[in-house]
Amino acid sequence: MSARLPELVEEALATGTLAGLPDKHFINGRSVSSSSGRAMDTFDPGSGRPFAHVAAGGAEDVEAAVAAAKAALATTWRQTTPAERGRFLYRAASLVREHADRLAVAECLDCGKPLGEAKGDVAGTARAFEYYAGACDKLQGETIPLGQDYLAYTLNEPVGVTAHITPWNFPISTLGRSVAPALAAGCTVVAKPAEQTPLTALMLADLLSEAGLPEGVFNVVTGTGPEAGAPLVAHRDVRHVTFTGSVATGTLVMQAAARNITRVTLELGGKSPVIVLSDSDMEQALAGVLGAIYENAGQICSAGSRLVIERAIHDKFLEELTRRTKELTLGHGLRDPNVGPVNSQAQLDKIVDYVEGAKARGIRVATGGARAADPQTGAGWFFEPTILDNVAADDVVIQEEIFGPVLAVQTIESIDEAIERANGTPFGLVAGIYTQDITKALRLARDIDAGQIYINEYFAGGIEVPFGGNKKSGFGREKGLEALRSYCKIKSVAAKI
Ligand code: NAP
Repeated sequence: MSARLPELVEEALATGTLAGLPDKHFINGRSVSSSSGRAMDTFDPGSGRPFAHVAAGGAEDVEAAVAAAKAALATTWRQTTPAERGRFLYRAASLVREHADRLAVAECLDCGKPLGEAKGDVAGTARAFEYYAGACDKLQGETIPLGQDYLAYTLNEPVGVTAHITPWNFPISTLGRSVAPALAAGCTVVAKPAEQTPLTALMLADLLSEAGLPEGVFNVVTGTGPEAGAPLVAHRDVRHVTFTGSVATGTLVMQAAARNITRVTLELGGKSPVIVLSDSDMEQALAGVLGAIYENAGQICSAGSRLVIERAIHDKFLEELTRRTKELTLGHGLRDPNVGPVNSQAQLDKIVDYVEGAKARGIRVATGGARAADPQTGAGWFFEPTILDNVAADDVVIQEEIFGPVLAVQTIESIDEAIERANGTPFGLVAGIYTQDITKALRLARDIDAGQIYINEYFAGGIEVPFGGNKKSGFGREKGLEALRSYCKIKSVAAKI
């Protein structure tokens, strides 16, 4: 049993790190150094300082991991019954819960997010393993009626070795939601976490091993995208790539996968609108808009980064939203503030560029708009929670994903204009709708092109609900029973009898 949360937080605050963090790849059931012997630092965004290091992997390490995953597929994992696979995943869920405190503190240090959010991510990861544990022995095929002289049926066979490439904003939960259905479907896994946040993927590997997963079924190679991610995507023995990240990298991943006709699921960026109509419950809408943009300092693919609001309530709503935004506390994630740091200096510089550009174009900054620091230490990579008011539909801060705590406001006169604004970006990930009028809500839900619609509660749903994007937000669906389809290839069998 791991140390309790207060002790772990105290250790991390006092020493700047945690003892015993993993620092090697996890390949074929063992922790191994990079074949090159190289390592790379990982940083605490709340202090801006390196606090741990991991192996810097390359093509040779990827080769070893894919070979292990391929061998395990043929020897052990294909031989396990679906019910046995389910038991492994249930054990994994309980071990994640048992070690939740340590995982949450490691995530908080690596990623920067407030401790309460990190705990939520770990709980969500355990839930993903539990949900797909229950699905393993329910992946049924179909019989197809061809008449009494034939028997035709379908089988859901595992696609094979799967690659999982994840970003830095939700390291453990993004990995959990993609590897749990892959394992449930009978596939083996090679994961490549973001270079900024490699730790919880390695910790998860240890827990899956403790759960009894056979050697080679789950492998983790740490390293940069070009050095470790690219050879993994290009490997001919990888049969499916689940990629979560930016549109630019997703495009490269799809091109590389095309060379081997490897399947891809692409979970890319967003610029999601939160539509607030004048008949909405103001309290509900205010809480929803605040959470939609400031959770994880706005570094969420599905963040509600555009407020699309009816003119009749614009001034009153903005006044109260601004007041509440100014009250949000900033600080190191371990002290569990309302808003933590952004993940890296590079990400902070990107946010600053967008906001300075908006100021230069004369856009009104209702609140925020500047770099900040941890009030206790004066260090870290922080940006003030920011609202940019009355932004034109073609402005760059409406059209591009900033990935920071920056809300851009668009004012509308009608439902038709709300639909036009909601659909008026290259993305189609999420839309939030706040109204008490069911007809308006359902019309907006029908006419907005997005993978998910949240009505009167932003981020409503859980692992049970399929999730994914339209347009440049990607394609394929994670979560829900739908996710299992990505990891199955259907075989049809037809017999004359
Ligand atoms: P990113 O730069 O595209 O990186 C994502 C992952 O791809 C990282 O592991 C990265 O490795 C790896 N990578 C980089 N170059 C690669 C290559 N040539 N081949 C294979 N892999 C490569 O994205 P990010 O900045 O980390 O994440 C932010 C983006 O993710 C945002 O756009 C956000 O909206 C999106 N996102 C989407 C979802 C969703 O569910 N739709 C969820 C979360 C985030 P290194 O980091 O080690 O270089």
